[in-house]
Amino acid sequence: MASAQPGATPEQRREQLKQVFARARVCTRCPQLAETRRNVVFGAGNADAELMFVGEAPGASEDEQGLPFVGRAGKLLDTLLGEIGLAREDVFIANTLKCRPPGNRDPLPLELANCREYLDLQVGLIQPRVICSLGNFATKLLREDQTGITRLHGRAEPLALGRRAVWLYPVYHPAAALRTPRMLETLREDFAALPALLGAAPPPQLEEVPEFAPEPLADSQQPPRPGAREDQPQASEARADQLGLF
Ligand code: URA
Repeated sequence: MASAQPGATPEQRREQLKQVFARARVCTRCPQLAETRRNVVFGAGNADAELMFVGEAPGASEDEQGLPFVGRAGKLLDTLLGEIGLAREDVFIANTLKCRPPGNRDPLPLELANCREYLDLQVGLIQPRVICSLGNFATKLLREDQTGITRLHGRAEPLALGRRAVWLYPVYHPAAALRTPRMLETLREDFAALPALLGAAPPPQLEEVPEFAPEPLADSQQPPRPGAREDQPQASEARADQLGLF
């Protein structure tokens, strides 16, 4: 299964990303989410991006379209990107969960754990220099720490993921900023610092970090539902159009 071989070309990594998508789109690890989702929202954007965003989980619009951040929060994200001279095709946007929690409830710890492997594979294949975590869920998941976004936003810190170190840059979630004008101001200021961070030296690489070679994706950690789409071979074919890859 997909793992970035040292020296893999961007095209090879892109193909491997499609393979991960093929697995994710038939995933049944979280039976409730697999039952209620309309689409798996794997992520979209530049498969070789320097900058990757990690949000929380798809909402209703994302679930409907199979693409991340296409609702109101997504429009704000587009605006903020535009203000620093970037567009969606320059970045990759993913979420901690690839499926919409019913009623937009918070992701459950087991769901975050089930879905973590997809995120790690995405990071290992896209190989961003900067990961911008949007809000508390993504920040806490990636830092493996409960410190809240209010204390952390706008400060880059090195984060070891697999055998690579990236800059983690936590910012407020755009949906929260839509509700609170002062937060929007801060989010804008934090975004304004992103170009400098992208131009900065990569974070110090850890010397003894084991090679990034995740175990093959395990089959469902939960028993598959009878008649689940995983049984249908054609459903596992990756479709780059639905992946929204640039
Ligand atoms: N909020 C998120 O965290 N992710 C999305 O994809 C949309 C809204």
